[in-house]
Amino acid sequence: MQSLSQVQARAAALVLPAHCVVDGQLVGAADGAVFDNVTPRDGSILSRVPSCGAADVDRAVSAARAAFSDRRWRALAPAARKKALLGLAELMERDREDLALMEALDTGKPISDALNVDIPLAIGTTRWYGEALDKIYGEVGPNHSGKLSFAVHEPLGVVGAITPWNFPLHMAMWKVAPALAMGNSVVLKPAEQSPLTAMRVAELALEAGIPPGVFNVVTGFGETAGQALSRHMDVDMIAFTGSGAVGRRLMIASGESNLKRVSLELGGKSPQIVFADCPDLDAAAQAAVWGIFYNQGEVCTAASRLLVQKEIKESFLARVIGIARAIEVGDPLDPATRFGAMVSKEQLETATRYIAKGLAEGAELVLGGERVRAESGGFYLEPTIFDNLTPASTLAREEVFGPVLGVLTFDDADEAIRIANDTVFGLAAGLWTANIDVAMKVSRALHAGLVWVNGWDACDITMPFGGFKQSGFGRDRSLHALHKYADLKSVTFTIRDA
Ligand code: NAD
Repeated sequence: MQSLSQVQARAAALVLPAHCVVDGQLVGAADGAVFDNVTPRDGSILSRVPSCGAADVDRAVSAARAAFSDRRWRALAPAARKKALLGLAELMERDREDLALMEALDTGKPISDALNVDIPLAIGTTRWYGEALDKIYGEVGPNHSGKLSFAVHEPLGVVGAITPWNFPLHMAMWKVAPALAMGNSVVLKPAEQSPLTAMRVAELALEAGIPPGVFNVVTGFGETAGQALSRHMDVDMIAFTGSGAVGRRLMIASGESNLKRVSLELGGKSPQIVFADCPDLDAAAQAAVWGIFYNQGEVCTAASRLLVQKEIKESFLARVIGIARAIEVGDPLDPATRFGAMVSKEQLETATRYIAKGLAEGAELVLGGERVRAESGGFYLEPTIFDNLTPASTLAREEVFGPVLGVLTFDDADEAIRIANDTVFGLAAGLWTANIDVAMKVSRALHAGLVWVNGWDACDITMPFGGFKQSGFGRDRSLHALHKYADLKSVTFTIRDA
């Protein structure tokens, strides 16, 4: 797929998935309801997708429970489960161009990012947990000689995964792959804005030999399908990535139903701090730009607050603006595009409202701020930069989840730490300095689950991912994620004299 016309031809020929996958069957909603799946590329209807309700969720949970109870998945030898997960990764690899196209059409992200980043990361995640599943050991307790105690990891049962639209398949596999690796059954409810890759991957899981009922996908809205899953009495855990508002509702739903476990990966207002002794100002300027504008700013770890030490503020900001000004807002299907459409009209309107609020509060707009390509019918917004934010302003405190960068300044490391931590969030943070002592001090002082020194977004599947404070709890990625999908059981034998 080298040119726009090639990608368009491929997209026109693409057969989109149209069904949920429940108990190994491709099904619609029980009452036949569907909703329009709109592409933000031009606002047209891409497909019609089952709009599932409580009855459909119930059916999927029953199937998942039956698969768990008869042990058709967890009783398989680890090598057999590994083979199935690695087989799924191979099939995703085989279909990677189709999956990437679905992702670009559903979300408006550039096809080159979908093809080179989203889908390879989703495949890599599936493969990594497939490889890891037989490397999780229990413990033997240090008891006295009359006892033998060991702790084993037991799968939880039925895991409900509720996922967002910004990296649809990647975020889904962060949950599905480790949950399956630990022997659970899964019911995945993808975001209504971007259901296609989840539907297709559940089909591929069947082809890979994952038994029916083990991995189910129900599509639909948060208020209906999502809520039914979160309140279901036979779901053992909800693994969630999304907004804080919905995260709160999931915890209430847990408390009002069966006290199911909840893990939450929520939003952020992540600071990127540039000290005057930054060892590579070009790299830092690139990171300042792409830390916020990658994926149109629809990234939970987006570096939406740029903190620059006063003495280099003017020159550094000029570099950042220079790079950002050259970004062309383009058609997501054009392989040359690096910045595409926002996911929906609602998301475009939210970001536009925040821009208006920034102006009203006296922040200085130094780049962008306008909707563009409106004639396409799609939802496009320019990369936008505000200078001279105050730490108390709305743009410094609230997550936009769009391409809006706010610039603040600081005098010294203590002030940088104070401003950076002055937020309810704690997902990611970064700093650029050549001074090892400053790097040590600041990286330890930042209240964030991810801290990057002299780089941005610089870690991978091997390291845990998740937030402090209102950015949530529980970790995706790494071996820690496997433990999230298991309960620890202590078994003690009393040894009798033979
Ligand atoms: P959202 O919370 O509106 O939706 C996320 C999912 O929750 C969707 O599948 C949606 O259908 C479902 N949902 C909505 N209402 C529900 C309800 N009442 N009950 C059950 N499920 C419900 O979030 P969004 O707008 O899709 O995603 C944007 C948010 O996600 C941002 O805040 C962003 O920071 C966050 N995010 C976080 C991470 C992370 O790893 N921390 C990653 C990506 C996105």
